[in-house]
Amino acid sequence: MDAALIEGCVTGDQDAFEVLWRRHGRLCLTTIARTLDSHGRGEAREAPIVYERLQKELLRNGVGRLRKLGPDASLRHCLTVLAHEAASSHVEEATPIASVMRPAPTPAEILLDDLVGLEPAHHVTQALRKLSPQIMAILRFELRGLTSREIAAALGTTEEMLAGHLDRTAQKIAEISAEPTDRTLASRLWRSLLGCASVEERVALATLSEDDPEVAARRETAKRTWAAVRERALSVPQPHSVHCLDEVTLASFVAGMRGADRARAEGHVTTCGRCADSVAGLVLHLRAVPTLRAAEPHGENLAIAAACAATDHPRPALAYAEQAERQELPRADEIHRVSMARRRLATSLGELPRQESSRVVSRDDLPTDDEAPLLALEALITGDASAAAQALDDHVAKRLVGARLRLLAMASGHDLEEATRLSEQALEGTDPDLRRDAEMVLALPDERALPRELLVERLVDLLPSLIRLILSRPR
Ligand SMILES: [Zn+2]
Repeated sequence: MDAALIEGCVTGDQDAFEVLWRRHGRLCLTTIARTLDSHGRGEAREAPIVYERLQKELLRNGVGRLRKLGPDASLRHCLTVLAHEAASSHVEEATPIASVMRPAPTPAEILLDDLVGLEPAHHVTQALRKLSPQIMAILRFELRGLTSREIAAALGTTEEMLAGHLDRTAQKIAEISAEPTDRTLASRLWRSLLGCASVEERVALATLSEDDPEVAARRETAKRTWAAVRERALSVPQPHSVHCLDEVTLASFVAGMRGADRARAEGHVTTCGRCADSVAGLVLHLRAVPTLRAAEPHGENLAIAAACAATDHPRPALAYAEQAERQELPRADEIHRVSMARRRLATSLGELPRQESSRVVSRDDLPTDDEAPLLALEALITGDASAAAQALDDHVAKRLVGARLRLLAMASGHDLEEATRLSEQALEGTDPDLRRDAEMVLALPDERALPRELLVERLVDLLPSLIRLILSRPR
């Protein structure tokens, strides 16, 4: 399918280009909006300008690149790379070079860095440098926000191998950053930060932090140290080399290139921070695809808002949702609310002043089945587990998102016994997401509600399914 379309574009067929943008334009726009947002430009104003430029550029002299797409490559991957590059060069041109390199820290941050971040971060960075290049590549992906599955796929390894690597790294950091008497906590802290702690460990750490201010403080220090390491690792400009992957190879690599080419590319990505970042960026952009697919029958602004909200970019999500509301597109109000919810979940663990929750708790009439999941999400964010539970009757909870929200409402204090019962039931079921929620609930000590940080994590996790549920309703 791609081959005929590429052929058409290469020969300059206008119709082919129209098909190309109809099929992939929204992903390109979403990619541009997400990239601009990563550079602090979250408004919806600039993305269309960059998009237009991308279209012209491809027409003028980019088509030759498409011709190089081999059998492994996909047009979708390649256009996403080009859209990302177009947005990055737009930012570079529009911004003085000094501020691209590093946002100026506020005085408070400098002080913080000096006091807690800098020293331990220096030691940790030194220790990491001595590790194998593969570990560095893994950590780079980890720092960019890829999941274990995505990292394993990118580096051609298994999740078990990956967990082993991360575990050894966590132990090493714990050794250099803690006194011998304190290693158990330190290693648990670092295993959790590096994303290789078991569910039981993570639940134990979260409840311990709620109970013991000293553990909470230790954890905060470790988090800041890790944030400083991340800042150092990711803000250093990575030099381009002759071995760096070009757009087409990068696209094919992520699309699942095989054989000798793959081995060569993997070898390079493992040792080159620049290419590791490009791979990570492409994988993250492509997470928008399932949401965009669900949004196909809807208007463009709404689709992009939904895709940004589902992929951790609440700022452009809000900007595009507002545009969709002005156009009075169906579902625009709900996608706007979801984007607000996503932004709250991203800040201060999503806590809200009480008065903002009035919309949820003051309703006398029961919500319709359609609006119930969104209301429940909003109630859980405000900390009102009972309102959330009330919104979700048995009928709504038959749908998967409803079932997940109900379990989380029960576990957040509405009815802990019911939470245990639902969790045991979920473990017998087949849905992996609901199972993960359930495992977390079952790992809690008796009569203990789900700690806020874990609730926030699970809500962020279910947001894309909720968005797709909203989009799937008839217009
Ligand atoms: Zn490279």
